[in-house]
Amino acid sequence: MITIDGSFGEGGGQILRSSLALSMMTGKPFKIEKIRAGRQKPGLLRQHLTAVKAATEIGQAEVSGDTLGSKELVFRPGKMQSGSYSFAIGTAGSATLVLQTVLPALLTTTEKTELTLEGGTHNPAAPPFPFLEKSFLPLLRRMGANVTVELERPGFFPVGGGKFTAVIEPTGMLNRLDLCERGTIHEQRATALVAMLPTDIADRELSLIARRLEWKNPVLKTENVTTSRGPGNVVFIEVESEHLTEVFTAFGEKGKRAELVAEEALKEAKQYVRSEAPVGEYLADQLLLPLAVAGGGSFVTSVLSEHTTTNIEVIRRFLAVHITVTELGKRSWKIEVAS
Ligand code: ATP
Repeated sequence: MITIDGSFGEGGGQILRSSLALSMMTGKPFKIEKIRAGRQKPGLLRQHLTAVKAATEIGQAEVSGDTLGSKELVFRPGKMQSGSYSFAIGTAGSATLVLQTVLPALLTTTEKTELTLEGGTHNPAAPPFPFLEKSFLPLLRRMGANVTVELERPGFFPVGGGKFTAVIEPTGMLNRLDLCERGTIHEQRATALVAMLPTDIADRELSLIARRLEWKNPVLKTENVTTSRGPGNVVFIEVESEHLTEVFTAFGEKGKRAELVAEEALKEAKQYVRSEAPVGEYLADQLLLPLAVAGGGSFVTSVLSEHTTTNIEVIRRFLAVHITVTELGKRSWKIEVAS
């Protein structure tokens, strides 16, 4: 049995999610101790518990310690079971992180799976739905994965209630992915989304972005959402290059000026454009698992986050892949995965 120290490195929920994904994929049982010990509210929150539930049902696993607040969990996976599943977090906890948990293993199954996930879909500190749809999944499809997602309604903090579906068709072996160059930037787009809030907020955000950007033909879009269960405001900037699209997101909050929200998204997008590395901070830690499943690949990233280095350690505990990190220069690291 593999024992994972949930407090090491980044010390958050990703250690648990990656362990579940790798355990489902390899059939290796694991025990995780000190779950999310590095966090203010340690142990399993609803979001993590839903990820455990999804992994348990789909992976036909035996599990113990799967209760709210639990700091220790034992997971013994069985045979992966494709089919139709629905999981609701019940809070604004991130539903996209539940997908992140079960998707790598589902890519290796031989039958179609349909997932309906409910909770937060546009959350800070988690992959927002537009990032999943426009950045992460197109790269997975390039590796041969056959995955589609559809947003029924967005869910924002604190109300949640967002809903999306994911259809995962049998994929077979994933191909390696190499993303060491970004290529020419074709287009940059900014979207300001408002739900149950005045459209004026989105107008102010987009007008600041239009003023501050040196884009030749900026594509600016307002999205007025009427289907959500609660209010929300999100700005996302897409940078579409020859080899990938990156998405940078900022969130509105009560009392936070619309201009500040736009500035936050702009800052990240500008840093990315300046750095010339194709893969941004968040995409980097999320690409590692698919690359490990494929048994090979490489990318250059502008940020070597603790999420990335921690994820590398978790992967090494389950799979016999070689992962090397080489510093190429200021704000540039190459990560290579080989079997
Ligand atoms: P915690 O234990 O910190 O409460 P958690 O379980 O919600 O956390 P983390 O372990 O912090 O999650 O992992 C967050 C994941 O969300 C990482 O894979 C990270 O790359 C991703 N992420 C965070 N912010 C963004 C963003 N703006 N765009 C895309 N992905 C993001």
